[in-house]
Amino acid sequence: MRIYLDNSATTYTDPEVLQAMLPYFTEVYGNGSSQHFFGREALVAIDKAREQVAAAINCRPNEVYFTSGGTESDNWAIKGIARAHSKKGKHIITSKIEHPAVIKTCETLEREGFEVTYLDVDSEGFVDPGAVEAAIRPDTTLISIMTANNEIGTIQPVREIGAIARAHKIVFHTDAVQAIGNVDIDVVRDNIDLLSMSAHKFYGPKGVGVLYKRNGVKAERFMDGGEQERNMRASTLNTPGIVGLGKAIELAVRDREANNARIRELRDAFVAKVNASIPDVKLNGALDFDRRLPGNANYSFKYIEGESILMRLDLAGIAVSSGSACSSGSLEPSYVLLSIGVPIEMAHGSIRFSFGKSNTMQEVDYTVDKLQKTVEFLRELSPLFKNVQGEQRYV
Ligand SMILES: *Cc1c(COP(=O)(O)O)cnc(C)c1O
Repeated sequence: MRIYLDNSATTYTDPEVLQAMLPYFTEVYGNGSSQHFFGREALVAIDKAREQVAAAINCRPNEVYFTSGGTESDNWAIKGIARAHSKKGKHIITSKIEHPAVIKTCETLEREGFEVTYLDVDSEGFVDPGAVEAAIRPDTTLISIMTANNEIGTIQPVREIGAIARAHKIVFHTDAVQAIGNVDIDVVRDNIDLLSMSAHKFYGPKGVGVLYKRNGVKAERFMDGGEQERNMRASTLNTPGIVGLGKAIELAVRDREANNARIRELRDAFVAKVNASIPDVKLNGALDFDRRLPGNANYSFKYIEGESILMRLDLAGIAVSSGSACSSGSLEPSYVLLSIGVPIEMAHGSIRFSFGKSNTMQEVDYTVDKLQKTVEFLRELSPLFKNVQGEQRYV
């Protein structure tokens, strides 16, 4: 039995996406910048992908820049805007629960003399648009707030934040890596100036992403070299990856409602069963499930360690994540959970279950059964749990 409940870390490549990519490894191997027909064939495919992305988020094809993934798109958006606008000011607004690709980029800019406001979030992980507005200063040049959080699934009020940024003529970037395929995104309606995405989070290949940048928004180029991507992002285009991303986003948007309904049913059943069968648990993140990623369930299990749960589930063939994939391996508790006020011992006992389009109800049942036994077993060994039990017995 192998059950994959880590779809927020990455997804498998959809077979239809893989099929679309294959010819671009073999017959159509030209360099999209070449002037002969090998190059033109590649360019036609790249332009098609550009249109598929543009249709998915309602932008123009020439506002789409292909990158190596979500991390590059976030780095480029934030550094590219901050540095291009540094004459106007050096202040950036973001939140405390952004992905490390955003937080670490902001920290680099702080070392270069920029100032960053990291906004608090509430106990469900929401950024308050009023707090965004209150943080704006005359020298603010960029607001970067993620569309949906990778650990706790909270979907931010991006439209309201976009409207505030627009009213103050400040550039607005959103990391939508977790949101593509899950959340309805329209960069015009939502006043989004820059948006990051990554194909491997929506059933496309790894190592390819997009930065959307509204025309007219000034940004520095990211890499020096050739004149690819309208002289903004050097390096030979990854034709197979780009073709895969285009196909994947087309499928993700076409099937969004059907996929979301199915995935949400699995997640809701999982949550109901965990709540009913395991005592002393807390579901972290948005409690209004209309404002939460459909596949996300992040739980804290009192008295025990997330790492121990993860390892025992792994032995049972169930793949989950403790904290986020990016911080696993480190013993630091998740900064996202600490930011929403989860006590440090409970943050240590947390697991993210993220459901995807190939999971089944049988997998949910099997997982809840193994999880319930695992938690019971680990609590039996836990001195914390023994103490609490002892107290209760003698009150
Ligand atoms: C996965 C992820 C990233 C990084 O994307 P890569 O393509 O893996 O570099 C950035 N932001 C969020 C919210 C993510 O979930």
